[in-house]
Order: sequence, then C-alpha cells, then structure tokens
Amino acid sequence: MKEKILNLNITKDFLTTIGGQNAPEVVKVCLEKNKDITDEEISKKIPLKITEIRTILNQLHYRGIACYNKAKTKRSGWYNYTWTIKTKRIAELLLEQKAEEINRMEKRQELEKNYEQFACPGKCTQMAFEIAAEYQFKCPECGKQMNIIDNRKIARESKQKIESIKREVNVLKKVV
Ligand SMILES: [Zn+2]
Repeated sequence: MKEKILNLNITKDFLTTIGGQNAPEVVKVCLEKNKDITDEEISKKIPLKITEIRTILNQLHYRGIACYNKAKTKRSGWYNYTWTIKTKRIAELLLEQKAEEINRMEKRQELEKNYEQFACPGKCTQMAFEIAAEYQFKCPECGKQMNIIDNRKIARESKQKIESIKREVNVLKKVV
C-alpha cells in the first residue's frame, strides 16, 4: 500500500512541490528499506550529493513527512541520523489539499456548464450572454457578429480531470 501511494501522480507532484524534483525518488528509497535509513545509505542509491539529500529530507521533515532519530555512533562519537517516512502524513496532507482543489474545480465546471460565452471571430473579445446581448451580439471592438463558444469540450475535459483526481483520492483514503 505504501508503494502504491508513491505511484500516484498526485503524490509525485506533491512531493516535488515540497522537496524538488528528486524528492519522490528519495521517499521511494526510504520506503523500500522500510525502516530507519541513513542519508549515506540513500546517497548510495541516488546519484545526488549527501548535502542535497539532506536538504530534501529537511524539507520533508518541515512538513512532517520525514522524521529522524539521532544516535551517537560508537566508533566516531558523531551523531548518526536515521530517517523514516510517514506515509500516513503524506496521505493526510494530500487529502486536505485535493478536497479544496476538487471543490474549486467543480465550482468552475458549474460555471463553464451554465454560462454561455460569446466571442468575436477576430478574437478581440469574449463575453457572457447578457453582455453580448447588450451589444446585439456584435463585437464592440470591430463590429463583427460574435459566435457562441462551445463549452462542451472544456466541460468534458474538466470533468475527466476531476474524476481522475477523485480516483487517486480514493486510493489515499484507504491509507488514512
Ligand atoms: Zn472583434
């Protein structure tokens, strides 16, 4: 299930926004080990500098996604950090974010569906039915007859996008 979350596009996008383009890979390596992992171990699997890996882990830590344990090493007496990824936290943050996004998209889709827009064939203007009617459907810029815009394609595309997010959200819900 943990790996499944990571395969979702919304998860990859989300981790990239937080920790940069290599963040999903770092999280993947951590989850594959499935227990505490040191940044040295991570750096053996990903061609990144250890400082870059630490930066990513710190950014993930800031959002509560990665947490660390500090232990003194017997040999050097230095501190050794081991990291764990909180998959549940990723799911929680994402669900919160996606709920807002779906809400926003559905509202916009309602508007796209309900409001007829008129546009000038010369592309000078685009306006709602009520305003276009005031101009007798003639472009106020150039005087050409304005045409109704077919919103069905746009509405269909938004609907598909919303549905695909909802599908991924349902996968996430099983983790929380
Ligand atoms: Zn025009």
